[in-house]
Amino acid sequence: MSGEIERLDRIAAASRLAEFPVMLDAALRAQAHARAPYSGFRVGAAVLTSGGGVYPGCNVESASYGATICAERSAIVGAVSAGETAIRALAVVTPTPEPSTPCGICRQLMAEFGPDVIVFAASSLSDVVLITTLAMLLPLSFGAANLDEAAR
Ligand SMILES: [Zn+2]
Repeated sequence: MSGEIERLDRIAAASRLAEFPVMLDAALRAQAHARAPYSGFRVGAAVLTSGGGVYPGCNVESASYGATICAERSAIVGAVSAGETAIRALAVVTPTPEPSTPCGICRQLMAEFGPDVIVFAASSLSDVVLITTLAMLLPLSFGAANLDEAAR
């Protein structure tokens, strides 16, 4: 990882992480289950754990907008609910020709799993894939270390 956001096609993205095709397939299947009656913005995601497990997620919207959960957090919650503790990579798929990266809330939750989480942002309309790391998406992030400092 070169410390920047790279723009690749799906084949090149797969060369960076062997599990990417499985993650992308899981994210695309989850996208089909997205519940997005208000925005119409259907998103799928999948996380890859350190043990090799792949957990899907989709966005689930609520009429009380603040209760909505993004696909990325949905996938993380699924992995943690299954007993996983370490996330190696996350893939997100959006219905936009140019992929969309995770929102700020999702980036903050991903920070719980460390700055080296690899993030693949893909499109369900094109073969464009952005690849980066959480450290690039959320520099100078707030985390457990800040709480530890306050406790001293
Ligand atoms: Zn989000």
